[in-house]
Amino acid sequence: MEAEERLTNSEALTLLWSTAMLKMATDFVENFLAEHPNATPPNPIPQLRMVRFATFMVTTTSKTRPVERYLLEEVIPESDGLFTKLVHNGQAIPLCNLPYPRHLQAQWCCTLQHIQWELTHGLAFVTDYQGGNTIITDTQIITHPNLGNGLFGEGNVPDAHKNFRTDHRCNAWCQFLDLPREPTAFPGKLNITTVVSHTQT
Ligand SMILES: [Zn+2]
Repeated sequence: MEAEERLTNSEALTLLWSTAMLKMATDFVENFLAEHPNATPPNPIPQLRMVRFATFMVTTTSKTRPVERYLLEEVIPESDGLFTKLVHNGQAIPLCNLPYPRHLQAQWCCTLQHIQWELTHGLAFVTDYQGGNTIITDTQIITHPNLGNGLFGEGNVPDAHKNFRTDHRCNAWCQFLDLPREPTAFPGKLNITTVVSHTQT
């Protein structure tokens, strides 16, 4: 596989899984709100979604011309606010000195990470949140080391997974959503043979 093709596939795979995991966390929040109609969140809940994207390839009958692969991403309009990084992939904490209301968005992203951690039993969470006021792009996914190397590209930092439980500081949204007071310690050796076999095919 050519390096460019690998890069495109890796970026698309990361966007795809980020979209699914963001929706998984958002569904969790919506279910909680539906079950607690009188509960009032500590701050308005940021409405974030992943950037829309598509991949396509151009094939040819020529044996000398390689297949061309493209990754298309929705343009984040200026009206969505200044492009800002909220959480980087090395540590699951909000970035410092973010202006209002971006610091609240960064805290919300960390709550989303806590939800993803619990729902995947510590297997994976989305990080490197960045983008406009509502559209997030260029995320990374941090995975449990037992899932193997090379998943989701170079932004998958092993230490970010290893340190998540101590890096993450529960905020008012975590408390509001009745998440565990600190991220759950799941068994270190997971029976994930099936997961690994699927991801390697
Ligand atoms: Zn938390």
